[in-house]
Amino acid sequence: MKYLPGLFSNNRRWAAEQIATDNRYFERLRNIQRPEYLWIGCSDSRVPANTIIGLAPGEVFVHRNVSNIVLPGDVNCLSVIQYAVEVLQVAHIIVCGHYRCGGVRAAMGPALTGPIEGWLAPLRKLCLEHDAELDAIDTPLERWDRLCELNVAAQVHTLARLPVLRAAWGRGQALTVHGWIYDLSDGLLRDLDVCAECPPALG
Ligand SMILES: [Zn+2]
Repeated sequence: MKYLPGLFSNNRRWAAEQIATDNRYFERLRNIQRPEYLWIGCSDSRVPANTIIGLAPGEVFVHRNVSNIVLPGDVNCLSVIQYAVEVLQVAHIIVCGHYRCGGVRAAMGPALTGPIEGWLAPLRKLCLEHDAELDAIDTPLERWDRLCELNVAAQVHTLARLPVLRAAWGRGQALTVHGWIYDLSDGLLRDLDVCAECPPALG
């Protein structure tokens, strides 16, 4: 193996461990994909979805991007949501942000170059919309963390208004959108109590 042999040896060890505990593990996994959850989280390497919620492969459908943003024009994210809702019929969509998110901090600072600036534009807008609340917070770290929370709430708000979710609720499909935040300092998740389980009023 020419490149990254350590990763391949990790992989062989992992596959052998699965077989050692259940010799039909991969056979079963290959034949079913029926996750109950769609996770929309940050790409940050410290927030791996399956690990922090203790779920095995096959149990959570995952979409991650910088700062867990749901944009109504992002065909990548929208396709994941459509597949999860219409084909997999997940019962829960979890938007999970995290404190000390680098993307959120960047959106509070000077303009960047390259595609990341365009990607973070909704966060800059969110920052402006909540400037009175954010300005009233004493420390930059607390302001940063609060914007991480506001970002999660904004994504839940956007999700609940997507046509694919409205259609699912219109069909009577049970589907709840949750807004959570993960704390890198203690490994714990917190529910931000911003969930949506029916279509919001238009407007
Ligand atoms: Zn992040």
